Amino acid sequence: MYSIEEQQKFNALTQKLLGKSVYLALPEFIQDLRNTINYHDWRYYVLSEPVITDYDYDKLFAVLKRIESANPSLQTPDSPTQRVARGLTSEFESVQHLAAMLSLENSYNQGDLNDFDRKTKELTNTEHTEYCVEPKFDGSSIALVYENDLLVRAATRGDGTAGDDITNNAKALPSIPLRAPFSKYGIHKIEIRGEVIIQRSVFEKMNEERKRKGEKVFQNARNTASGSLRTKDPNESRARNLEAILYHISFAEDAGGNNLLKEKLVSHFHCIEILYNCGFKTPIHEMRVCQNIDDVHLFIQTWDSKRHIFNIDTDGMVVKVNSLQQQQQCGSTTHHPRWAIAYKFAAKQAHSKLLKVEFQVGRTGAVTPVAKIEPVPLAGVTISSISLHNEDFISEKDIKINDTVIVERAGEVIPYIVGVVETLRTGAEYPVDFPRQCPSCNSPLIKPDEEAVWRCDNADCPAQTEERVIHYVSKDAMDIDGCGRETVIEFIQRGYIKTIEDLYRLPYEQILGLEGWKEKSVNNLKAGIEDSKNRPLWRLLNALGIRHVGVTTSKDISNHIHSIFDLAKMSVDDLTNIEGIGPKVAQSIVGFFHNSGNTHLLEELHALGVNTINRAEDARSKNNKLEGKTFLFTGSLQQFTRDRAKQLVEENGGKLLSGVSANLNYLVVGEDAGSKLAKAQKIPSIIVLSEDDFLNMIA
Ligand SMILES: [Zn+2]
Repeated sequence: MYSIEEQQKFNALTQKLLGKSVYLALPEFIQDLRNTINYHDWRYYVLSEPVITDYDYDKLFAVLKRIESANPSLQTPDSPTQRVARGLTSEFESVQHLAAMLSLENSYNQGDLNDFDRKTKELTNTEHTEYCVEPKFDGSSIALVYENDLLVRAATRGDGTAGDDITNNAKALPSIPLRAPFSKYGIHKIEIRGEVIIQRSVFEKMNEERKRKGEKVFQNARNTASGSLRTKDPNESRARNLEAILYHISFAEDAGGNNLLKEKLVSHFHCIEILYNCGFKTPIHEMRVCQNIDDVHLFIQTWDSKRHIFNIDTDGMVVKVNSLQQQQQCGSTTHHPRWAIAYKFAAKQAHSKLLKVEFQVGRTGAVTPVAKIEPVPLAGVTISSISLHNEDFISEKDIKINDTVIVERAGEVIPYIVGVVETLRTGAEYPVDFPRQCPSCNSPLIKPDEEAVWRCDNADCPAQTEERVIHYVSKDAMDIDGCGRETVIEFIQRGYIKTIEDLYRLPYEQILGLEGWKEKSVNNLKAGIEDSKNRPLWRLLNALGIRHVGVTTSKDISNHIHSIFDLAKMSVDDLTNIEGIGPKVAQSIVGFFHNSGNTHLLEELHALGVNTINRAEDARSKNNKLEGKTFLFTGSLQQFTRDRAKQLVEENGGKLLSGVSANLNYLVVGEDAGSKLAKAQKIPSIIVLSEDDFLNMIA
């Protein structure tokens, strides 16, 4: 979208804007700021090649936000600040598409493609037809309308003629430009189609985080994308890392109302180039123009294997007649266009028999049913065990023991039971009996109203202890070398470990006598455990396995406390004051410390020499956001004390100065700032920050 010259211009402008100490509310300046932020959004979200740090980006954004909120008359509809939507959508309005969104007919083999090719040539009365072939993204369809270069509407597919108006949610997706230079191509009003997706790696990360918090994992990326796109809270669309890929122009008019699809635009590839040049994410790098149907088939075959390593789910390819004139000659039926066809890859499904269902108790006490099936090979791995999630899942799919089940690898990774083959039932099937007692400790299970899972509430439940210790030693928690899952299970079975603190009291003499343990492995274990006494505070917090508290939350919290024992004294209100901590997490933490067994555990760990405080060197070693920068605080600070401010600067690798001089980089200003501010304003290199700006800097 941006030429090399433009990119150079914006890179230079960025440096200029970042170097400013005073920002004036002038229209030209604000426009520069907006254009620069839009340029960096494009680099980050479309090219994935950012050229500035998140910190510098956030700074530009904060300045724009501040000026706009102080001067609402200077705000424009395409300002990047407008992506952060306010309020919730109560109901989606239904809107008519400018051109009907038809579905594609499917093909499965070369014979089907040859038929398609023959029909196309008949309809267009030609010997030669060029095809565009591109991956079929497995996401949620979207239609965007731009008028005068501005995004005016976004809608879901709906029934094909009308969909839900999701403009606010679409604005929250940074890969959708709020302004796109279509007028450069003489286009006044345009409707474009695409797919909203979640990249596979992002989806997996989301699920890992949910698992860690004890939340229900998402089934597959497509459903998650479509659910997120229709969420009533637009900020959640953003939070879930949705991306839009645009691949079709369905309507284009100039200012005089002329249909440009019949006049100026010549081919599908040409349309994709325009979208690409207007700053959209497109399949331009994944597609190919093929001169005949044999080439089409060859290209599709290369994708049948490539798609497994591609970061976006695809369930096939789309073959389109390239020439728009020929597309019009082909026309459409009431259901499908005749100029395009989908090619479906062979589904990665298999049949197997459900032998039994086992129930596993997780570290937070959640009881998960796991299907044990006759081992079956599927997409390169043998599957014998599949999660059934919860009781509702089993009853919705009417899954019975001895049923023939259809197994699929959703998103090509996690095996999943699609359903049962009812016609193969013999009468030997019987329902899954869901236990009401914990399979490990026999305590009665409980199920809170708002949740789908049954839980064991017994703090001494052996299955939970096992999972808790395994979590404690894991990579994201205390990261104990030489002590994995198998070791923990063995030590629990031998009675060496009854609670977490027993890890620090292992009988090494006895272990040395066990089968499979040599002096070297015992020494490794000992060193790993000794080493874990010296971990940063957030690791200990995460290792405790408090429900809803994962790595990110642990880091957020540990930045705000001095010692783990501070947490025990904090109320729900105190905790929700910490950015990123919601009431659910806060309640869970308060509940954890309410349990005397847990506080006892922490006291024991402390007595055994495990680090329980937030040390400055931990913060510095992993966080050097302020390295080489100097700070001074002035005025009456509202959000933190002077001491805390000093600590924050030092923890993040910055330095504190005692007075205003040319050596000062940042002056952080509280209320009623006086002479220091006046003095700083005379030195152009000093950047004046509000308390919020400062907190954003280290967030
Ligand atoms: Zn139990």
